[in-house]
Amino acid sequence: MTFKSLGLTDNLIKAVSDIGYTEPSPIQVKAIPLVLERKDILASAQTGTGKTAGFALPMIQILERGQTMRNRPIRALILTPTRELAAQVQDDIVNYSKQSDIRSTVIFGGVNQNPQANRLRAGIDILVATPGRLLDLQNQGLLSLAKVEILVLDEADRMLDMGFLRDIQRILKLLPERRQNLLFSATFSKDIKKLANTFLHHPVLVEA
Ligand code: AMP
Repeated sequence: MTFKSLGLTDNLIKAVSDIGYTEPSPIQVKAIPLVLERKDILASAQTGTGKTAGFALPMIQILERGQTMRNRPIRALILTPTRELAAQVQDDIVNYSKQSDIRSTVIFGGVNQNPQANRLRAGIDILVATPGRLLDLQNQGLLSLAKVEILVLDEADRMLDMGFLRDIQRILKLLPERRQNLLFSATFSKDIKKLANTFLHHPVLVEA
């Protein structure tokens, strides 16, 4: 299997080959075509499987296709449980989008919010965030989620374990009804399934 056969465009193929990926991982083989088809997915994937590229590569391609808005509203939101994971996902996205015009940034708690607010003000396409800081900045009017087309919940089980259910529910209310939803979780408890049922539309199940 090749990245090209999954439907990725040349600039993304160049970006991954520059990083040194020679072939897609099993989760990428399954997830990338589904995301490009704009399906909602419910994916069971541990860290280390290549799940980040599984959602980030097709996301970048979709956003490039539709890049017409001059003021760069946030069009993709990736929620993660911890700042470490948020920073790591953002690093990956920066690498994957090197050959493209897509801009991204990351926000998380525990640090001064001003540099984050400045980066948001400059206009970005993809936002990686932990739930608390996202709601904080949203409450202050420093960001809008009204144009989000793609939502990713990364490590959803850890988010629930850390008590983020209420925050996630609040964030869901800030998003447009019509959007694509991707949920990644290492485990599938009753609570994850219940959450998945509240916002995924006819999700395709994906296993690494
Ligand atoms: P993740 O599960 O997304 O945290 O990825 C785990 C590690 O695998 C990261 O260091 C990625 O850079 C790397 N990786 C992701 N996809 C591939 C691939 N197709 N080939 C080689 N390494 C990869």
